[in-house]
Amino acid sequence: MSKKIAVFPGSFSPFTKGHESIVLRALPLFDEIIISIGINSAKNDYFSIDERVQWAENVFKNYDNIKVERYEGLTIDHCMKMGAKYILRGLRNSHDFKYEKGIAQMNHSMDSGIETIFIITEPKYSHISSTIVRDVIKNGGDVSQFLPEDISL
Ligand code: ADP
Repeated sequence: MSKKIAVFPGSFSPFTKGHESIVLRALPLFDEIIISIGINSAKNDYFSIDERVQWAENVFKNYDNIKVERYEGLTIDHCMKMGAKYILRGLRNSHDFKYEKGIAQMNHSMDSGIETIFIITEPKYSHISSTIVRDVIKNGGDVSQFLPEDISL
């Protein structure tokens, strides 16, 4: 039987406790999760791709079945390259749902062999967003409570 591989795509700018929790909760569902860091998105300027990859690698350094990749272009093309039939995404609220619904439906129209799997965030992480974390950093605040233990900015 082929391996069940999920791609977890995102900007991860930076990788937060919310992201970490989604990966760990999804892990029992898959043989392998590939955290896939997008190179192109407009909101990625603040942290370099190398920093973002390194942080995610540090967080999961003790897991053989969690990998970190960088990618450009369509997520479904990246999935094909990785041999992944599943896209993993996290949901915090109805705003996430509306946004994710459109992307998942578009992706499914383009490749019906790929399913998007959603995990709803734990309430204690539902307020954590990379965008807000970045704003706090820009304004000199301490964000350590929002980041996994292995990340120090
Ligand atoms: P993108 O730029 O693609 O939105 P992000 O890095 O912001 O990428 O997020 C990647 C995924 O993680 C998205 O599915 C997002 O909804 C989810 N996510 C972000 N923060 C949290 C959180 N605190 N709890 C659960 N899921 C989250």
